Amino acid sequence: MKASICSKRPVLEPCSLESSDYQIDPYIGCEHYCYYCYVLGQAETDWTEEILIHEDITGRLRTDLSGIPPQRIYMGWHTDPYQPCEAEIRQTRQVLELLLEMGFSAGILTKSNLVLRDLDLFQAMNDANVSVSVAFMDNAVRRKFEWRTIDTEARIEALREFKKAGVRTSALICPVIPYVTDAASLIETLAPHTDKIWIYGLSILNRSDQNWRNVEGILERDFPDMKEQIETAVFSKDHSYWEKLRQDLVSLQKDKQLNLSIHV
Ligand code: SF4
Repeated sequence: MKASICSKRPVLEPCSLESSDYQIDPYIGCEHYCYYCYVLGQAETDWTEEILIHEDITGRLRTDLSGIPPQRIYMGWHTDPYQPCEAEIRQTRQVLELLLEMGFSAGILTKSNLVLRDLDLFQAMNDANVSVSVAFMDNAVRRKFEWRTIDTEARIEALREFKKAGVRTSALICPVIPYVTDAASLIETLAPHTDKIWIYGLSILNRSDQNWRNVEGILERDFPDMKEQIETAVFSKDHSYWEKLRQDLVSLQKDKQLNLSIHV
């Protein structure tokens, strides 16, 4: 993987999540190249060959952080902080070390168990949160939509390790692909290892978007009999599929006393 230097983009940026005011993308681009990724339309390079890294990320970040009070910073909005090249480049590790040194903490989202390498840093932070993103119980199906990610079980195992180590954990079930993602089974599997689970449906604005063109190709090839019903649900948020799923998840939440945040 070629990693080129980018000096133009800010390192610390505002974050629109409830839990964090600021976020950091340690990479620009993502080797995981999930076919449904909503950032694909903004890609500045071909992520299968080249990603960008911030020039002097810690030097610039040190200056940015010195102007704000210590708090939890979100990492994982437009990129995966633990995509494969992180094993060698260690941009994420450097950012976490600086956050810890300056009294900040991190809330991280990843699809990789490489996050376990940095357990010591998360453990030392006050109020850190480690979250994994999953969308498929069946790894054969996962590989159709996320050809470069690791098995769902390995991500859940990472959560188990963090929880055992006393770090707060959560999970993001995203994207729920109508009639494909078994959200209820994922929730039941994740629940013992997480403090909270968020659930979001596949969200695509236009049929001309790169991520829809990718997903459409997968549906035509691998789910030809279901393509029409999946497509109808994806582009209609008041479709009965979503209503039924909402009801099922609310029932599951009540029955099992789960901490779910349902956004389907
Ligand atoms: S891991 Fe996240 S950021 Fe990376 S390609 Fe997949 S959806 Fe996009």
